[in-house]
Parts: sequence; C-alpha cells; structure tokens
Amino acid sequence: MSLTLSHVSLTVGDGDLQVTALDDIDLHVEDGELLAVVGPSGSGKSSLLAVAGALRTPDTGRVLIDDIEIERLSPKARTTLRRDRIGFVFQSSNLVPSLTAVEQLELVVHLRGQRASRGRDAAQALLDEVGMGSRADHRPGQLSGGERQRVGLARALMGQPSILLAEETHRRGIATMMVTHDPSLLELSDRVVRMQDGRLVTHDPTATTQPVP
Ligand code: ADP
Ligand code: MG
Repeated sequence: MSLTLSHVSLTVGDGDLQVTALDDIDLHVEDGELLAVVGPSGSGKSSLLAVAGALRTPDTGRVLIDDIEIERLSPKARTTLRRDRIGFVFQSSNLVPSLTAVEQLELVVHLRGQRASRGRDAAQALLDEVGMGSRADHRPGQLSGGERQRVGLARALMGQPSILLAEETHRRGIATMMVTHDPSLLELSDRVVRMQDGRLVTHDPTATTQPVP
C-alpha cells in the first residue's frame, strides 16, 4: 500500500486561461504514513488529490498506486482500481441524498458485486468508530456538514482502501494524503508538505525540534 508521484505536471483550463496546477511534483507516501498537504487557496491541493486518486491524468509524469502505473491502465481498469483501492473523502462528502448513513456504506459493497452479508455489521462498526453510530438511520439532509463528512470517511473506509485521499481527516494503517489547515491534524501527521503555485515545498515540522548533532 503506497502512492508515488514522479515528475507529475498538470495544466488546467483552456486557451488564455490555462494554469499550471501541478508543476513537476515528486512525492511518495508509505504504507501507514499520514501525509498532510497545506498551502494557500489555488496552490494546487485539489489538483494533487485528483491526480493521486486517478480522477485526472497528468500531462506528464507517472502515478503509481501499489506499484501499478495508472497511465497504463485502460479507462475501465482505472475505474476498477479507483473503486477497489482508493478511498476519497471530499469536503462536499458526495453522499446519496436518498440513502441513510448505513445504506451509504452498504452501497460500497453492493457496487463491487459482493454479497451484502458482511455489509451491515461492518458498516455499523465503522459508523461507531467515526462517532456516527447513533446516526446510522439518518439521511444526509438530516446531518450537519461535519457529520456528513464523517459518514463520507466511514464510507471510504468501508471499501478497505490501500490509499485514503482526504480533505481534512486522518487514519493510521493506510497511506493517507490529507489536505488540511487544522493545526491539531498537522500535529498528528507524520509529514507535512506545502504547496505553492503548483509546486511542492517540503517542510518537516519535527525537523526544527531535532537536537543538533
Ligand atoms: P487548491 O485546491 O489548492 O485551492 P486547485 O488545485 O483547486 O487549488 O487549483 C489550482 C489552480 O488551478 C488554481 O489556480 C485554480 O484557479 C486553477 N484551476 C482549477 N480548476 C480549474 C479549471 N477547471 N479551469 C481553470 N483553472 C482551474
Ligand atoms: Mg481545493
């Protein structure tokens, strides 16, 4: 379970409005590592998540998920890889309005064509874990934004992903890349990288506290 980006560049927009959203990004996230990505609005954080999660193909460079090179996959294989190995947690949460919280999680199992037998217990356990156990029968319209995002996290984990890509969350034991400005989440991170104008400026918050040899 790992994620590697190598010399990744991405241009977005058309004509005169073209912007270099990602400029020669090199990044590796290990199994179990929690990487936090910070940076001002427009610096490329969302673009980085989209490329890392095989939602967008970079113009140049390579993206490897568990040593599988995404660019080499057919569109269908890419969709399958996304479904089976990547968990996304977007701030917008993208929940299905008509489904209850527990049904959102069961849908993940159903979409994979697996029997729903392991579904409900596992779903309830994950909702408990993110503090949403008592809201299992609530629909998105009956939840706050933060609660919806926690259901979104539980849903991503329901898929047992190799890689978790998140706007503001964290989870040990999976290669996690998180976009956040929350200082308490930054403290929990194993590593923090900063984005600026589509480039990565790495800074390690623990480095300054290391004794000088
Ligand atoms: P962040 O998530 O850090 O705010 P984004 O990855 O969303 O940054 O955006 C990176 C840059 O790409 C910004 O300058 C943004 O304006 C530009 N951008 C993003 N999407 C588009 C688009 N569809 N068309 C034109 N420019 C875009
Ligand atoms: Mg963004």
